[in-house]
Amino acid sequence: MTPFTQVLTIAGIAIACIGGAVAIVRHLISNAVEKKNATIELLKEKNIWFEKQLDLALSKSPDKLLDIKHKRIEMLEGEITRLAEQDTKNQTAIHMRQSEANLLSEDIEALKQLIEGLKDKASQANVCPECNAPLVSMADYDPGEEYHCIITHEAYACGYSTSDGSPQTPCTNKKQKPKTGLAENRAQ
Ligand SMILES: [Zn+2]
Repeated sequence: MTPFTQVLTIAGIAIACIGGAVAIVRHLISNAVEKKNATIELLKEKNIWFEKQLDLALSKSPDKLLDIKHKRIEMLEGEITRLAEQDTKNQTAIHMRQSEANLLSEDIEALKQLIEGLKDKASQANVCPECNAPLVSMADYDPGEEYHCIITHEAYACGYSTSDGSPQTPCTNKKQKPKTGLAENRAQ
């Protein structure tokens, strides 16, 4: 190999090396551009996302939230007032019914006593104490000025009679009662 050929060979190698280096640099630049483009795309997407978030935040602004909470409080206060009014009405109605029930209980008690009293009176009067024959006549008579009183005469269906409660004539059923049941049947 002549020195000239050697120089050519070296030059060729150098050119090849430079070409390779250029290719590598191109590749690197191309990669870098691609990466940059990808980064720009990503940033664009991020920007869109941030804008959406901002819109969302603005649509749910504290003012609006406050407004919603205020309305809810007003609603709750209204409900509480209504419930309190209802409770007052219920309490009043309960008290009225209790008073009415108490009055009715008193009336019932008074009526019971009245009925018991009437039963006692009915059992004591208006029937013969021997056979339960009914009273047929009752009259007051004045026995005369010297007695200074009015006598009540009571006569019963069985013949029993009284003057001011004292027996005057006997009960006719009284004698027959022990003999047969007929007199009792007749009396009833
Ligand atoms: Zn009698």
